[in-house]
Amino acid sequence: MTTAEKLTALLLRNALGLFGTAISSRLSILIFHRVRAVPDPLFPCEPDARRFESLMRFVAATFRVMTLGEAIDHLARGTLPPRSLVITFDDGYADNAEVALPILQRLGLRATFFISTGFLDGGRMWNDSVIECLRACRLTTVDLEEFGLGRCELADLSQRRQVIVRLLSCLKYRRLPEREAAVGLLRQLCGVELLPHDLMMRSEQVAMLHRSGMEIGAHTVHHPILTTLMQEEAETEIDGGREQLQSIIDAPVDVFAYPNGKPGVDYDESHVALVERLGFRGAVSTAPGAAQAGDDPFQLPRFTPWGKSLPVWAARLLMNQWNTSFSRAWLGAK
Ligand SMILES: [Zn+2]
Repeated sequence: MTTAEKLTALLLRNALGLFGTAISSRLSILIFHRVRAVPDPLFPCEPDARRFESLMRFVAATFRVMTLGEAIDHLARGTLPPRSLVITFDDGYADNAEVALPILQRLGLRATFFISTGFLDGGRMWNDSVIECLRACRLTTVDLEEFGLGRCELADLSQRRQVIVRLLSCLKYRRLPEREAAVGLLRQLCGVELLPHDLMMRSEQVAMLHRSGMEIGAHTVHHPILTTLMQEEAETEIDGGREQLQSIIDAPVDVFAYPNGKPGVDYDESHVALVERLGFRGAVSTAPGAAQAGDDPFQLPRFTPWGKSLPVWAARLLMNQWNTSFSRAWLGAK
């Protein structure tokens, strides 16, 4: 560890101790998506291998890291050790197996990987189609009036990033076939024929994660917003994804992450009851905060601290652990 990492770890451990057992006995569950081998100029704030390793060294020195399944057991029995933390990855990106796994293994850390099975082996999520389309587009302006965005400038990366953010928010809550049709139209408007087919894991990489001691969790087949589906469709998505994962790893899959994960918006009480009825042991949302004994194991909160420097990242992690109305306001959470 660098001196800065050691100092930050020491300060955070002391801060957690100062706030007392009520704070240090809460469980932080981190969410990651991609961990790129090198920084992405289009999304410079996303962690790359170097930054991820620095964060994980800090986490390993400060927290007791466990899988979500282990944490759910501890919460149920009231035996959660102080400074417990779970590392989770959503969606099933190939760089999770190629970049993040070797770092986790070097540091002796275990993590939980929630995988949408419909994109394994050469598929691509709709949001990545949007991102890669805007990355590859050779035009300097594009008419996106079809999406209500008017004529958009694409002269530099920050303009492209803004267009991506606006497109993702305008398409996110459309049903799956409409999203696919919108992506097809976007490709035409941007004049992009080829998009990458190697963003997501291959099935053998999922099996390799499992063999490496990592936990595999379900995340539906096609990553729909569950509230846009009929209940039978939601069940097919949730159970179908789990069955595919179980056949890939030849072992039970009993934890789940709601796609997009905002309580009351992306899923509701009927989906919580469904996940429980399907025999899962627990599930995670994307509501910020830290979990504690007595919380609903089918709606455990998760959080992604942000900030380019480790002390700022660690301070946000601490504030999330604190989990008061003041800290939620500071973190920009609703
Ligand atoms: Zn997801």
